[in-house]
Amino acid sequence: MHDYPRKTLSIDAMERPCCKNHGTGSASAGGGATSDPEVEEPVTSQVSLPRLVPPATVEPATTEPLRAEVRAFLAEQRAAGTFSPSVDAWLTGWDEKFTAALAAKGWLGMTVPVEYGGHGRSFVERFVVTEELLAAGAPVAAHWIADRQIVPSLLKYGTELQKSEFLPKIVRGECYFGIGMSEPDSGSDLASVRTKAVRVDGGWKLTGTKVWTSGAHHAHAFIALARTAPVDPDNRHAGLSQFIIDLRAPGVEIRPIISMNGAHHFNEVVLDAAFVPDAMVFGAIGDGWRQVTSELAFERSGPERFLSTFVLLASCAEHMASQRISPDADLGWLVARIAGLHQMSTAVAGALERHAPADVPAAVVKVLGTTTEGDIAEFAGEFDDGDIDPAFTELVSAAADQRPGFTLRGGTNEVLRGVIARGLGLR
Ligand SMILES: Cc1cc2nc3c(=O)[nH]c(=O)nc-3n(C[C@H](O)[C@H](O)[C@H](O)COP(=O)(O)OP(=O)(O)OC[C@H]3O[C@@H](n4cnc5c(N)ncnc54)[C@H](O)[C@@H]3O)c2cc1C
Repeated sequence: MHDYPRKTLSIDAMERPCCKNHGTGSASAGGGATSDPEVEEPVTSQVSLPRLVPPATVEPATTEPLRAEVRAFLAEQRAAGTFSPSVDAWLTGWDEKFTAALAAKGWLGMTVPVEYGGHGRSFVERFVVTEELLAAGAPVAAHWIADRQIVPSLLKYGTELQKSEFLPKIVRGECYFGIGMSEPDSGSDLASVRTKAVRVDGGWKLTGTKVWTSGAHHAHAFIALARTAPVDPDNRHAGLSQFIIDLRAPGVEIRPIISMNGAHHFNEVVLDAAFVPDAMVFGAIGDGWRQVTSELAFERSGPERFLSTFVLLASCAEHMASQRISPDADLGWLVARIAGLHQMSTAVAGALERHAPADVPAAVVKVLGTTTEGDIAEFAGEFDDGDIDPAFTELVSAAADQRPGFTLRGGTNEVLRGVIARGLGLR
Protein backbone atom coordinates (compact mmCIF):
# COMPACT_ATOMS: atom_id res chain seq x y z
CA MET A 1 0.00 0.00 0.00
CA HIS A 2 2.80 2.40 0.93
CA ASP A 3 5.98 2.60 -1.11
CA TYR A 4 8.07 4.62 1.32
CA PRO A 5 11.23 2.93 2.54
CA ARG A 6 10.70 1.98 6.15
CA LYS A 7 12.98 1.04 8.99
CA THR A 8 11.36 -0.78 11.88
CA LEU A 9 12.13 0.71 15.26
CA SER A 10 13.82 -1.96 17.32
CA ILE A 11 15.91 -2.26 20.42
CA ASP A 12 19.03 -3.28 18.50
CA ALA A 13 18.88 0.00 16.61
CA MET A 14 19.85 1.38 20.01
CA GLU A 15 22.96 -0.82 20.34
CA ARG A 16 26.36 0.73 19.98
CA PRO A 17 29.50 -1.33 20.43
CA CYS A 18 30.85 -0.76 23.91
CA CYS A 19 33.78 1.58 24.17
CA LYS A 20 37.03 -0.36 24.50
CA ASN A 21 37.77 1.62 27.64
CA HIS A 22 34.82 0.45 29.71
CA GLY A 23 35.20 3.32 32.08
CA THR A 24 34.07 5.87 29.55
CA GLY A 25 31.85 4.59 26.83
CA SER A 26 28.30 4.46 28.06
CA ALA A 27 25.47 6.49 29.42
CA SER A 28 26.14 7.86 32.84
CA ALA A 29 23.62 9.74 34.88
CA GLY A 30 26.15 11.10 37.23
CA GLY A 31 28.71 13.07 35.29
CA GLY A 32 31.65 10.87 36.25
CA ALA A 33 34.96 12.28 35.04
CA THR A 34 36.21 10.79 31.75
CA SER A 35 39.56 9.03 31.52
CA ASP A 36 39.60 8.75 27.73
CA PRO A 37 42.83 10.37 26.52
CA GLU A 38 41.10 11.48 23.31
CA VAL A 39 38.49 13.49 25.15
CA GLU A 40 39.76 16.83 26.34
CA GLU A 41 39.01 17.64 29.94
CA PRO A 42 37.69 21.15 30.49
CA VAL A 43 40.30 23.14 32.37
CA THR A 44 37.78 25.05 34.43
CA SER A 45 36.97 23.66 37.85
CA GLN A 46 33.79 21.61 37.95
CA VAL A 47 31.47 20.13 40.52
CA SER A 48 32.21 16.45 40.76
CA LEU A 49 29.15 14.30 41.39
CA PRO A 50 29.42 10.58 41.99
CA ARG A 51 28.65 8.38 39.01
CA LEU A 52 25.18 6.95 39.65
CA VAL A 53 24.98 4.38 36.86
CA PRO A 54 27.99 2.19 36.17
CA PRO A 55 29.28 1.86 32.60
CA ALA A 56 27.58 -0.77 30.44
CA THR A 57 30.14 -3.50 29.98
CA VAL A 58 28.11 -5.85 27.81
CA GLU A 59 29.51 -6.44 24.35
CA PRO A 60 26.54 -6.65 21.94
CA ALA A 61 28.44 -9.25 19.89
CA THR A 62 28.15 -11.74 22.77
CA THR A 63 24.39 -11.36 23.04
CA GLU A 64 23.40 -10.85 19.41
CA PRO A 65 22.72 -14.51 18.53
CA LEU A 66 20.38 -14.85 21.53
CA ARG A 67 18.64 -11.58 20.64
CA ALA A 68 18.16 -12.80 17.07
CA GLU A 69 16.78 -16.13 18.31
CA VAL A 70 14.19 -14.44 20.56
CA ARG A 71 13.23 -12.06 17.79
CA ALA A 72 12.72 -14.92 15.31
CA PHE A 73 10.57 -16.76 17.85
CA LEU A 74 8.45 -13.65 18.43
CA ALA A 75 8.02 -13.11 14.69
CA GLU A 76 6.81 -16.73 14.35
CA GLN A 77 4.38 -16.32 17.22
CA ARG A 78 3.02 -13.09 15.74
CA ALA A 79 2.66 -14.69 12.33
CA ALA A 80 0.77 -17.59 13.94
CA GLY A 81 -1.57 -15.07 15.59
CA THR A 82 -0.54 -16.16 19.09
CA PHE A 83 -0.50 -12.59 20.34
CA SER A 84 -0.96 -8.97 19.30
CA PRO A 85 1.52 -6.48 20.70
CA SER A 86 0.07 -4.58 23.61
CA VAL A 87 1.00 -1.81 25.99
CA ASP A 88 2.08 -2.76 29.53
CA ALA A 89 1.86 -6.43 28.56
CA TRP A 90 4.26 -7.47 31.32
CA LEU A 91 1.61 -6.50 33.87
CA THR A 92 -1.66 -7.03 32.04
CA GLY A 93 -0.93 -9.67 29.38
CA TRP A 94 -1.67 -12.88 31.31
CA ASP A 95 -1.30 -15.78 28.86
CA GLU A 96 -0.34 -19.11 30.41
CA LYS A 97 0.09 -20.79 27.01
CA PHE A 98 2.57 -18.15 25.94
CA THR A 99 4.42 -18.58 29.25
CA ALA A 100 4.58 -22.34 28.57
CA ALA A 101 5.98 -21.68 25.09
CA LEU A 102 8.73 -19.49 26.59
CA ALA A 103 9.48 -22.18 29.18
CA ALA A 104 9.85 -24.71 26.37
CA LYS A 105 12.45 -22.41 24.76
CA GLY A 106 14.39 -22.25 28.06
CA TRP A 107 13.59 -18.56 28.61
CA LEU A 108 12.07 -18.81 32.08
CA GLY A 109 14.24 -19.19 35.17
CA MET A 110 17.26 -18.57 32.98
CA THR A 111 19.45 -17.72 36.00
CA VAL A 112 18.25 -20.70 38.05
CA PRO A 113 21.08 -23.23 38.55
CA VAL A 114 20.77 -26.52 36.69
CA GLU A 115 20.35 -28.52 39.93
CA TYR A 116 17.02 -26.75 40.47
CA GLY A 117 15.84 -27.44 36.95
CA GLY A 118 17.06 -24.11 35.60
CA HIS A 119 19.35 -23.08 32.79
CA GLY A 120 22.34 -21.61 34.66
CA ARG A 121 22.51 -18.61 32.36
CA SER A 122 23.57 -15.06 33.19
CA PHE A 123 21.58 -11.98 34.22
CA VAL A 124 22.73 -10.34 31.03
CA GLU A 125 21.30 -13.17 28.91
CA ARG A 126 18.03 -12.93 30.84
CA PHE A 127 18.10 -9.16 30.25
CA VAL A 128 18.38 -9.64 26.48
CA VAL A 129 15.43 -12.05 26.41
CA THR A 130 13.22 -9.86 28.60
CA GLU A 131 14.11 -6.73 26.65
CA GLU A 132 13.03 -8.36 23.37
CA LEU A 133 9.80 -9.70 24.89
CA LEU A 134 8.95 -6.24 26.23
CA ALA A 135 9.83 -4.45 23.01
CA ALA A 136 7.46 -6.80 21.18
CA GLY A 137 4.63 -6.17 23.68
CA ALA A 138 4.37 -9.92 24.31
CA PRO A 139 1.97 -11.27 26.98
CA VAL A 140 4.38 -12.23 29.75
CA ALA A 141 2.48 -11.27 32.92
CA ALA A 142 1.75 -14.81 34.12
CA HIS A 143 5.35 -15.63 35.00
CA TRP A 144 6.81 -12.12 35.26
CA ILE A 145 6.88 -11.66 39.04
CA ALA A 146 8.05 -15.23 39.73
CA ASP A 147 10.81 -14.99 37.14
CA ARG A 148 11.90 -11.44 38.00
CA GLN A 149 11.99 -11.29 41.78
CA ILE A 150 10.93 -14.59 43.34
CA VAL A 151 13.69 -16.57 41.61
CA PRO A 152 16.56 -14.36 42.90
CA SER A 153 14.92 -14.06 46.33
CA LEU A 154 14.52 -17.83 46.63
CA LEU A 155 18.12 -18.35 45.54
CA LYS A 156 19.30 -15.85 48.15
CA TYR A 157 17.08 -16.62 51.14
CA GLY A 158 15.09 -19.80 50.39
CA THR A 159 15.59 -23.08 52.23
CA GLU A 160 16.57 -26.20 50.28
CA LEU A 161 12.97 -27.38 50.54
CA GLN A 162 11.59 -24.05 49.23
CA LYS A 163 14.10 -23.96 46.38
CA SER A 164 13.35 -27.49 45.27
CA GLU A 165 9.60 -26.98 45.70
CA PHE A 166 9.24 -23.74 43.71
CA LEU A 167 12.20 -23.20 41.38
CA PRO A 168 11.65 -26.17 39.02
CA LYS A 169 7.95 -25.26 38.71
CA ILE A 170 8.78 -21.62 37.96
CA VAL A 171 11.27 -22.72 35.30
CA ARG A 172 8.59 -24.92 33.71
CA GLY A 173 6.11 -22.01 33.74
CA GLU A 174 3.80 -23.84 36.13
CA CYS A 175 3.98 -21.63 39.22
CA TYR A 176 2.98 -17.97 39.35
CA PHE A 177 3.61 -15.58 42.21
CA GLY A 178 2.17 -12.26 43.37
CA ILE A 179 3.73 -9.56 45.57
CA GLY A 180 2.45 -9.25 49.13
CA MET A 181 3.89 -5.94 50.26
CA SER A 182 1.41 -3.01 50.09
CA GLU A 183 -1.43 -2.55 52.56
CA PRO A 184 -4.30 -0.04 52.73
CA ASP A 185 -2.18 2.37 54.79
CA SER A 186 1.29 1.16 53.81
CA GLY A 187 2.75 1.87 50.42
CA SER A 188 5.82 4.04 50.26
CA ASP A 189 6.26 3.65 54.00
CA LEU A 190 6.37 -0.12 53.85
CA ALA A 191 7.78 -0.49 57.37
CA SER A 192 4.35 0.55 58.66
CA VAL A 193 2.70 -2.75 57.53
CA ARG A 194 0.17 -3.96 60.07
CA THR A 195 -0.33 -7.55 58.93
CA LYS A 196 0.57 -9.51 62.02
CA ALA A 197 2.07 -12.99 62.28
CA VAL A 198 1.53 -14.82 65.56
CA ARG A 199 3.49 -17.91 66.57
CA VAL A 200 1.39 -21.09 66.85
CA ASP A 201 2.19 -24.76 67.07
CA GLY A 202 4.12 -25.78 63.93
CA GLY A 203 4.02 -22.39 62.27
CA TRP A 204 2.49 -18.91 62.23
CA LYS A 205 -1.00 -17.42 61.83
CA LEU A 206 -1.22 -14.27 59.71
CA THR A 207 -3.97 -11.68 59.96
CA GLY A 208 -4.18 -8.50 57.91
CA THR A 209 -5.00 -7.08 54.47
CA LYS A 210 -2.73 -6.71 51.45
CA VAL A 211 -3.84 -4.45 48.61
CA TRP A 212 -3.09 -3.70 44.94
CA THR A 213 -1.99 -7.32 44.61
CA SER A 214 -1.49 -7.72 40.86
CA GLY A 215 -2.71 -11.06 39.51
CA ALA A 216 -3.45 -12.64 42.94
CA HIS A 217 -6.62 -14.15 41.45
CA HIS A 218 -4.47 -16.23 39.06
CA ALA A 219 -1.30 -16.71 41.08
CA HIS A 220 -0.46 -19.71 43.23
CA ALA A 221 1.40 -17.91 46.02
CA PHE A 222 2.86 -14.64 47.24
CA ILE A 223 5.50 -13.64 49.75
CA ALA A 224 3.87 -11.52 52.45
CA LEU A 225 5.67 -9.01 54.62
CA ALA A 226 4.30 -9.10 58.17
CA ARG A 227 5.07 -7.89 61.63
CA THR A 228 6.35 -10.60 63.98
CA ALA A 229 7.32 -8.26 66.85
CA PRO A 230 5.80 -4.98 68.07
CA VAL A 231 7.09 -1.75 66.48
CA ASP A 232 10.28 -0.47 68.02
CA PRO A 233 10.05 3.33 67.59
CA ASP A 234 13.85 3.52 67.49
CA ASN A 235 14.10 0.91 64.74
CA ARG A 236 10.88 0.58 62.73
CA HIS A 237 12.55 -1.83 60.32
CA ALA A 238 13.08 -4.43 63.03
CA GLY A 239 10.46 -7.09 63.82
CA LEU A 240 9.38 -7.71 60.21
CA SER A 241 9.39 -11.13 58.54
CA GLN A 242 8.39 -12.74 55.25
CA PHE A 243 6.17 -15.76 54.65
CA ILE A 244 5.37 -17.76 51.52
CA ILE A 245 1.59 -17.95 51.39
CA ASP A 246 -0.46 -20.39 49.34
CA LEU A 247 -3.13 -18.13 47.87
CA ARG A 248 -5.65 -21.02 47.82
CA ALA A 249 -5.17 -21.91 51.51
CA PRO A 250 -7.92 -21.61 54.15
CA GLY A 251 -8.01 -18.15 55.74
CA VAL A 252 -6.93 -16.45 52.49
CA GLU A 253 -9.64 -14.49 50.68
CA ILE A 254 -8.97 -12.79 47.35
CA ARG A 255 -11.29 -9.86 46.66
CA PRO A 256 -11.20 -8.32 43.19
CA ILE A 257 -10.61 -4.58 42.72
CA ILE A 258 -12.05 -3.61 39.34
CA SER A 259 -10.28 -0.76 37.53
CA MET A 260 -12.21 2.14 36.00
CA ASN A 261 -11.81 0.58 32.53
CA GLY A 262 -13.49 -2.61 33.78
CA ALA A 263 -10.31 -4.67 33.94
CA HIS A 264 -9.65 -7.03 36.80
CA HIS A 265 -5.98 -6.74 37.55
CA PHE A 266 -5.75 -5.69 41.21
CA ASN A 267 -6.94 -7.53 44.28
CA GLU A 268 -7.23 -7.16 47.97
CA VAL A 269 -5.93 -10.24 49.78
CA VAL A 270 -7.45 -10.67 53.22
CA LEU A 271 -5.60 -12.95 55.60
CA ASP A 272 -7.77 -14.16 58.44
CA ALA A 273 -5.59 -16.19 60.78
CA ALA A 274 -4.13 -17.91 57.70
CA PHE A 275 -1.81 -20.72 58.84
CA VAL A 276 1.72 -20.79 57.41
CA PRO A 277 3.81 -23.82 58.38
CA ASP A 278 7.37 -23.28 59.63
CA ALA A 279 8.62 -24.72 56.34
CA MET A 280 7.18 -21.67 54.53
CA VAL A 281 8.81 -19.00 56.70
CA PHE A 282 10.89 -17.12 54.15
CA GLY A 283 14.42 -16.25 55.26
CA ALA A 284 14.96 -15.43 58.91
CA ILE A 285 12.32 -14.24 61.35
CA GLY A 286 13.03 -10.55 62.04
CA ASP A 287 15.10 -10.11 58.86
CA GLY A 288 12.13 -9.15 56.67
CA TRP A 289 13.23 -5.59 55.99
CA ARG A 290 16.64 -6.55 54.60
CA GLN A 291 15.03 -9.28 52.51
CA VAL A 292 12.21 -7.13 51.14
CA THR A 293 14.58 -4.33 50.12
CA SER A 294 16.70 -6.89 48.28
CA GLU A 295 13.53 -8.15 46.53
CA LEU A 296 12.66 -4.55 45.61
CA ALA A 297 16.05 -4.11 43.94
CA PHE A 298 15.10 -6.91 41.54
CA GLU A 299 11.56 -5.53 41.18
CA ARG A 300 12.82 -2.09 40.20
CA SER A 301 15.82 -2.80 38.10
CA GLY A 302 14.57 -4.36 34.87
CA PRO A 303 13.88 -3.06 31.36
CA GLU A 304 10.11 -3.13 32.03
CA ARG A 305 10.70 0.23 33.69
CA PHE A 306 11.22 1.94 30.34
CA LEU A 307 9.68 -0.34 27.70
CA SER A 308 6.01 -0.56 28.81
CA THR A 309 4.92 1.70 25.92
CA PHE A 310 7.67 0.86 23.42
CA VAL A 311 5.17 -0.76 20.99
CA LEU A 312 3.40 2.59 20.81
CA LEU A 313 6.62 4.42 19.99
CA ALA A 314 7.39 1.83 17.27
CA SER A 315 3.87 2.23 15.95
CA CYS A 316 4.24 6.03 15.79
CA ALA A 317 7.54 5.62 13.90
CA GLU A 318 5.87 3.31 11.36
CA HIS A 319 2.88 5.57 10.90
CA MET A 320 5.16 8.59 10.43
CA ALA A 321 7.29 6.73 7.90
CA SER A 322 4.17 5.80 5.96
CA GLN A 323 2.88 9.38 6.33
CA ARG A 324 -0.28 8.28 8.07
CA ILE A 325 0.74 10.77 10.74
CA SER A 326 2.72 13.91 10.18
CA PRO A 327 6.45 13.97 10.90
CA ASP A 328 7.40 15.28 14.31
CA ALA A 329 10.90 15.91 15.66
CA ASP A 330 9.84 14.84 19.14
CA LEU A 331 9.88 11.26 17.91
CA GLY A 332 13.67 11.47 17.70
CA TRP A 333 13.82 12.98 21.18
CA LEU A 334 11.88 10.01 22.60
CA VAL A 335 13.94 7.46 20.64
CA ALA A 336 17.11 9.07 22.00
CA ARG A 337 15.81 8.80 25.55
CA ILE A 338 14.99 5.11 25.03
CA ALA A 339 18.49 4.57 23.59
CA GLY A 340 20.06 6.12 26.70
CA LEU A 341 17.81 4.05 28.97
CA HIS A 342 18.73 0.89 27.08
CA GLN A 343 22.40 1.59 27.81
CA MET A 344 21.76 2.39 31.47
CA SER A 345 19.52 -0.63 31.95
CA THR A 346 22.17 -2.83 30.33
CA ALA A 347 24.58 -1.43 32.90
CA VAL A 348 22.21 -2.39 35.73
CA ALA A 349 22.03 -5.96 34.36
CA GLY A 350 25.84 -6.02 34.36
CA ALA A 351 25.89 -4.82 37.98
CA LEU A 352 23.47 -7.59 39.00
CA GLU A 353 25.70 -10.10 37.25
CA ARG A 354 28.71 -8.89 39.26
CA HIS A 355 26.61 -8.86 42.48
CA ALA A 356 27.39 -5.15 42.70
CA PRO A 357 24.92 -2.83 44.48
CA ALA A 358 22.20 -1.84 42.00
CA ASP A 359 19.60 0.07 44.02
CA VAL A 360 20.75 3.59 43.09
CA PRO A 361 21.31 2.90 39.34
CA ALA A 362 17.98 1.03 39.26
CA ALA A 363 16.26 4.06 40.85
CA VAL A 364 17.79 6.33 38.19
CA VAL A 365 16.59 4.07 35.36
CA LYS A 366 13.15 3.72 36.93
CA VAL A 367 12.58 7.46 37.43
CA LEU A 368 13.82 8.39 33.95
CA GLY A 369 12.29 5.31 32.32
CA THR A 370 8.78 5.50 33.74
CA THR A 371 8.65 9.23 32.94
CA THR A 372 9.62 8.41 29.34
CA GLU A 373 6.93 5.70 29.16
CA GLY A 374 4.33 8.31 30.12
CA ASP A 375 5.72 10.86 27.67
CA ILE A 376 5.44 8.29 24.86
CA ALA A 377 1.79 7.72 25.80
CA GLU A 378 1.14 11.46 25.65
CA PHE A 379 3.04 11.92 22.39
CA ALA A 380 1.07 9.13 20.67
CA GLY A 381 -2.21 10.44 22.07
CA GLU A 382 -1.66 13.74 20.27
CA PHE A 383 -1.81 11.95 16.89
CA ASP A 384 -4.77 9.73 17.55
CA ASP A 385 -7.77 11.16 15.78
CA GLY A 386 -9.40 7.74 15.47
CA ASP A 387 -8.72 7.59 11.70
CA ILE A 388 -5.22 6.09 11.67
CA ASP A 389 -6.02 2.50 12.45
CA PRO A 390 -8.06 0.81 15.17
CA ALA A 391 -5.05 -1.08 16.55
CA PHE A 392 -3.21 2.23 17.09
CA THR A 393 -6.22 3.74 18.86
CA GLU A 394 -6.42 0.69 21.10
CA LEU A 395 -2.75 1.01 22.07
CA VAL A 396 -3.14 4.74 22.74
CA SER A 397 -6.17 4.14 24.91
CA ALA A 398 -4.47 1.30 26.86
CA ALA A 399 -1.44 3.53 27.43
CA ALA A 400 -3.66 6.32 28.78
CA ASP A 401 -5.34 3.87 31.16
CA GLN A 402 -2.09 2.36 32.41
CA ARG A 403 -0.06 5.54 32.59
CA PRO A 404 -0.86 6.63 36.16
CA GLY A 405 0.63 3.37 37.43
CA PHE A 406 3.98 3.72 35.64
CA THR A 407 5.52 6.10 38.16
CA LEU A 408 3.78 4.57 41.19
CA ARG A 409 4.26 0.80 41.06
CA GLY A 410 7.37 -0.68 42.62
CA GLY A 411 8.09 2.58 44.46
CA THR A 412 6.99 6.07 43.46
CA ASN A 413 9.25 8.48 41.62
CA GLU A 414 9.18 10.87 44.57
CA VAL A 415 10.47 8.14 46.88
CA LEU A 416 13.05 6.97 44.34
CA ARG A 417 14.35 10.52 43.99
CA GLY A 418 15.14 10.22 47.70
CA VAL A 419 17.17 7.07 46.95
CA ILE A 420 19.01 8.96 44.19
CA ALA A 421 19.65 11.92 46.51
CA ARG A 422 21.22 9.48 48.96
CA GLY A 423 23.38 8.11 46.14
CA LEU A 424 24.53 11.65 45.44
CA GLY A 425 25.39 12.14 49.10
CA LEU A 426 22.71 14.82 49.46
CA ARG A 427 20.86 13.19 52.37
C1 LIG B 1 -0.07 -0.91 38.57
C2 LIG B 1 0.29 -1.16 39.99
C3 LIG B 1 0.55 -2.48 40.41
C4 LIG B 1 0.85 -2.72 41.75
N1 LIG B 1 1.05 -4.03 42.15
C5 LIG B 1 1.34 -4.29 43.45
C6 LIG B 1 1.50 -5.64 43.89
O1 LIG B 1 1.35 -6.58 43.11
N2 LIG B 1 1.78 -5.86 45.18
C7 LIG B 1 1.96 -4.84 46.08
O2 LIG B 1 2.28 -5.11 47.23
N3 LIG B 1 1.77 -3.54 45.70
C8 LIG B 1 1.45 -3.26 44.41
N4 LIG B 1 1.26 -1.96 44.00
C9 LIG B 1 1.27 -0.89 45.02
C10 LIG B 1 2.47 0.04 44.92
O3 LIG B 1 3.63 -0.60 45.36
C11 LIG B 1 2.13 1.29 45.73
O4 LIG B 1 1.10 1.95 45.03
C12 LIG B 1 3.29 2.22 45.90
O5 LIG B 1 4.28 1.65 46.70
C13 LIG B 1 2.84 3.57 46.51
O6 LIG B 1 2.15 3.36 47.68
P1 LIG B 1 0.71 4.02 47.91
O7 LIG B 1 -0.15 3.70 46.72
O8 LIG B 1 0.23 3.57 49.23
O9 LIG B 1 0.96 5.57 47.90
P2 LIG B 1 1.53 6.45 49.09
O10 LIG B 1 2.74 5.80 49.67
O11 LIG B 1 0.41 6.77 50.02
O12 LIG B 1 1.98 7.74 48.33
C14 LIG B 1 1.05 8.75 47.91
C15 LIG B 1 1.85 9.89 47.32
O13 LIG B 1 2.69 10.47 48.34
C16 LIG B 1 4.05 10.48 47.89
N5 LIG B 1 4.96 10.18 49.00
C17 LIG B 1 4.82 9.20 49.93
N6 LIG B 1 5.89 9.21 50.76
C18 LIG B 1 6.72 10.18 50.34
C19 LIG B 1 7.99 10.67 50.79
N7 LIG B 1 8.61 10.13 51.84
N8 LIG B 1 8.55 11.70 50.11
C20 LIG B 1 7.93 12.27 49.04
N9 LIG B 1 6.71 11.84 48.57
C21 LIG B 1 6.12 10.82 49.21
C22 LIG B 1 4.14 9.37 46.87
O14 LIG B 1 5.20 9.60 45.97
C23 LIG B 1 2.78 9.45 46.19
O15 LIG B 1 2.78 10.44 45.19
C24 LIG B 1 0.93 -1.66 42.69
C25 LIG B 1 0.67 -0.36 42.26
C26 LIG B 1 0.34 -0.10 40.93
C27 LIG B 1 0.06 1.31 40.52
